[in-house]
Amino acid sequence: MSPVLDKGSRRHRGRPFVVAVAGLLREPGSRRQVEVDAPIEDLAVSGSHVPERALVHVSALLESVHDGILVSGTVSAKWEGACRRCLDEARGELCVPVRELCVEGGDVETTYALLGDELDLEPIAHDACILELPLAPLCNEGCLGLCPECGVNRNLEQCSCDPAPDPRWGPLALLGGGAPQARVASSAAGPEPVPGETTE
Ligand SMILES: [Zn+2]
Ligand SMILES: [Zn+2]
Repeated sequence: MSPVLDKGSRRHRGRPFVVAVAGLLREPGSRRQVEVDAPIEDLAVSGSHVPERALVHVSALLESVHDGILVSGTVSAKWEGACRRCLDEARGELCVPVRELCVEGGDVETTYALLGDELDLEPIAHDACILELPLAPLCNEGCLGLCPECGVNRNLEQCSCDPAPDPRWGPLALLGGGAPQARVASSAAGPEPVPGETTE
């Protein structure tokens, strides 16, 4: 992606995502490519977040349409969080396509605000990141998670717990007098052990 010079926009100190669009508004049908890299505060969901001061990249084409400015492009950012299986660090990069209409005094449910001749790309970038941040990230797709018996990280070491019967089924095994065969069929009914609870 080659950066496009953006001579027409006055960037506002402290508001890096604000773009001046007076020229665009004067000429319906005109368009301009903008690239912005800046941090956005408080980009977090319950499972992951964009690291503080990490740059959020917005690459967007601004098009002057009869009722405002149409913004189309991509929002990308790095994210990090805790793997839901092993609780180790998980990280990745999101890249979200956006296509939003910005109008002055428009419907806040369906459009973003245009304030005079200023267009603020930050709300668009913010919302795109929040929607895309993973709620239950994985360190990698094949993560083996924590052993529910002893709590070791099974990506890092192997424990000898596997053949051991689940203690919850101990009483049944005694009643039946043999190996707890029922365990496989019945285990679907019980809740999965939560990884963090078995950590020692
Ligand atoms: Zn993991
Ligand atoms: Zn174990």
